[in-house]
Amino acid sequence: MSARPPGAAARGPREGRPGGMDIARRFLAFFQERGHTVVPSASLVPAGDPTLLFTNAGMVQFKDVFLGLERRSYARAVTVQRCLRVSGKHNDLETVGPSPRHHTLFFMLGNFSFGDYFKREAIAYAWEFVTRELHLAPDRLVMTVYQDDDEAFQHWRALGVGADRIHRMGERTNFWSMGDVGPCGPTSELHYDWGPERCTCGRADCGVPLDNDCGRWLEIWNLVFMQFNQASDGTRTPLPRPGVDTGMGLERIAAVVQDAPTNYDTDLFAPVMDRVQRLLGHTDAQRRAAIVPYRVIADHGRAATFLIADGVTPGNEGREYVLRMILRRAMRFGRRAGFRQPFLGEVAEVVIDQFGQEFGELVRRRDFIVKMVEAEEERFAQTLSAGLERLTEVVAATRARGETTIAGADVFRLYDTYGFPVEMTRDAAREEGLGVDEEGFRAAMEEQRRRSRAAGAAGEGALDDASLANLPATQFVGYRRETASAAVVAVLRAGRRVEEAAAGDEVVVVLDRTPFYAEAGGQVGDTGTLSAPGLRVEVTDARRFAPAVIGHVGRVAAGRLRVGQRVRAAIDADRRAAIRRNHTATHLLHKALQEVLGEHALQRGSLVAPDRLRFDFTHTGPLAPEEREAVERRVYEQVLAARPVRAREMSQDEARRLGATALFGEKYGERVRVVEIAGYSRELCGGTHVTNTAEIGAFAITAESSAAAGIRRLEAVTGWGAYDRARAHERLLAEVAAALRTSPADLIERARRLAEQAKGGTRPARAPEPDLDGAVRVTEQVDGVRVVAARVDGATHEALRAAGDRLRERMGGGVYVIAGAAGDRVHLVAMVTPDAQARGLRADVLLRALAAALGGSGGGRADLAQGAGRDPAALAGALDGLPGRVRDLLATG
Ligand code: ATP
Ligand code: MG
Repeated sequence: MSARPPGAAARGPREGRPGGMDIARRFLAFFQERGHTVVPSASLVPAGDPTLLFTNAGMVQFKDVFLGLERRSYARAVTVQRCLRVSGKHNDLETVGPSPRHHTLFFMLGNFSFGDYFKREAIAYAWEFVTRELHLAPDRLVMTVYQDDDEAFQHWRALGVGADRIHRMGERTNFWSMGDVGPCGPTSELHYDWGPERCTCGRADCGVPLDNDCGRWLEIWNLVFMQFNQASDGTRTPLPRPGVDTGMGLERIAAVVQDAPTNYDTDLFAPVMDRVQRLLGHTDAQRRAAIVPYRVIADHGRAATFLIADGVTPGNEGREYVLRMILRRAMRFGRRAGFRQPFLGEVAEVVIDQFGQEFGELVRRRDFIVKMVEAEEERFAQTLSAGLERLTEVVAATRARGETTIAGADVFRLYDTYGFPVEMTRDAAREEGLGVDEEGFRAAMEEQRRRSRAAGAAGEGALDDASLANLPATQFVGYRRETASAAVVAVLRAGRRVEEAAAGDEVVVVLDRTPFYAEAGGQVGDTGTLSAPGLRVEVTDARRFAPAVIGHVGRVAAGRLRVGQRVRAAIDADRRAAIRRNHTATHLLHKALQEVLGEHALQRGSLVAPDRLRFDFTHTGPLAPEEREAVERRVYEQVLAARPVRAREMSQDEARRLGATALFGEKYGERVRVVEIAGYSRELCGGTHVTNTAEIGAFAITAESSAAAGIRRLEAVTGWGAYDRARAHERLLAEVAAALRTSPADLIERARRLAEQAKGGTRPARAPEPDLDGAVRVTEQVDGVRVVAARVDGATHEALRAAGDRLRERMGGGVYVIAGAAGDRVHLVAMVTPDAQARGLRADVLLRALAAALGGSGGGRADLAQGAGRDPAALAGALDGLPGRVRDLLATG
């Protein structure tokens, strides 16, 4: 038996060698001493660049500076940039695990020159840093330069590097360009030579770093010299002020400095790898046997932790999809390593402990990150096993047919029903020596999108954007004015351009200028009138058409409307005032939520209507009553503080400097509008606001619910809405008191006595919360709609509703039926979430059918219904038949 506990074998850093984060700190200090400004790592979600899913290099945050579109106060910068390479032209996802040197998320050390120093200094700095600061042996280093780049060659020679250690390479490895046009130039790389004993390529010419991933060679640092501007015809002209962009992988340089066999053996990964081993109770030999899954878990766990810290939540599209895919992929590798229990929350904790000092947001958002990871893990755990079984069947069937690729329809079904990302199915297929039909998968996916779009669009009055596309931009004058005199530029009837419209016609009217705010940023469009002598058009909505044309949607109430005539456009001013109050209140609410819950509570969507506001934000789990009250009070304090509100236009850069909150992933133009509540908040926003918070008058939170995984929804009222609500409550109280023949003040006492009398003197006991894990009988996707049936016997309707709420919270949108035997009866509750309602499903319809099948009845609303049946013996069959019933309803609805 070995004397040391498992895990102590960690081939981590040698005694006395600098840790990974020490190297990062030394890098910053080294370049700071040489005149570089230390710039913090940008978010993994690039600001205002919808063409790029994730930050994948240090230069991303400086792209506009290199392009000459933006100026900074410094010409030299140094960063430790978190990067993610899982999409687009930099996608290392599938090498992670087998490769000792590739990660999804890694830290890139970079120094930058914006038209300041060039090749000579960049090369000298790099050499000095690795040989003097990190003490790498010069004879272990080999350089590459671009074939024609004699300058770079000579600069290396001048430092004493032998000509035999500088290799000229071709365009593919040593020429860089930002895109098909724009800045580009030669590169020079530093490679580390581990020595011939680590050669894995076996080639005779392995003495030079070939681009073939041979284990002997490790590319550690890439120096990019931005020297030319490439035109669309391919010609390159010298840039007036050439620049430098460099990138060194922290995990790789740590492996070299710590003499670790792979990046995973450095102190940057050892803690997570060791924790995984401890959780699994593996011996060192078991750990070695499962090293690929260990690496994937450690890598993906780290990537997910940072992604969530940067505001990404798991979902089905874009960045959100990538996060979900990474977590699910980690879970499947977790199964392979031997996990049967949740483990990713622990992994996230280790990552937060490890990097929290450098990246404070990890610590500040700790609870949120861990809860989010655990929730996603729990959500997928429910379908992972069933999905893996299904996958085994699919693999067998594919082989039986003598085929080598899994059909697109099967891949899609695994995705749609079991939540298997295609990347994960592809991994599993590869392990079986099979491929997947990606094209077929995409086609099936597109088909489903098309169907649900068609379902969603049905009933919408179709508006023909194209016919408005060539019109000039409408001038919006509604920030200051409620009326304007304007010319009619175009009229649409039934989606077609017309010259005239008569009384009774439904129209869309375009003016040259307008005070009507078109729906945007959650704020609803204005209503009002367009009038002229003898003419009156009632406007019921204002909407924006591409690119900046505002359409007034409404009906001609009297007279004739002609293109070219002048009208007086007037919005409903009271309604707008109510909207203003609600919009400013959402800004107060956003800030208050961050103060009370933490900085992870970021806006994810909103609705600003005259009668209420709705606000979605990232947070796991319901607010505690104290939290809710604290948020409400904060907002109210700002109302009473009568803070002035003003809006200003400025450059994006200035807004960033002022610390204005921008919405997650939102794209903003060069000039932005910043709404500032004096001394309290600054947000980028194009909406209409009060001029002083006191105008809001009153504020009350009216409802809270879950909007999606990790996203909470609050509803609130202000001004007259809050007043009406308070009045209504008081009226209700008075009526209840009158009915019970007492005064509102004595109501509680009276109610308590009545309850005791009714229960024969005992206080009603609360039903215990049912255990939901064993309760779910059916969970299936029916034509893109999640259908869940759960059974909880002996429960009241209230308990069933609570169980339904919890299931929905956990599993997301869909159709839920929770039922159970209660004595000789059956209690039934059905819930249908808004997205499933959009597919034509209704809780009341479904429930009535189910109850009828069980000899009973029931009713309710589209979202929630309940009822009872008389045949407990038939319940199991009824629940199992739920997917079929939903399928029928979808087909007929
Ligand atoms: P490789 O050829 O090894 O994939 P690359 O050419 O893609 O590297 P660059 O885009 O030049 O690398 O990035 C600069 C540096 O960042 C590299 O020299 C390397 O040290 C590091 N790096 C790049 N990709 C990864 C990755 N997936 N994981 C860890 N480090 C990386
Ligand atoms: Mg690469």
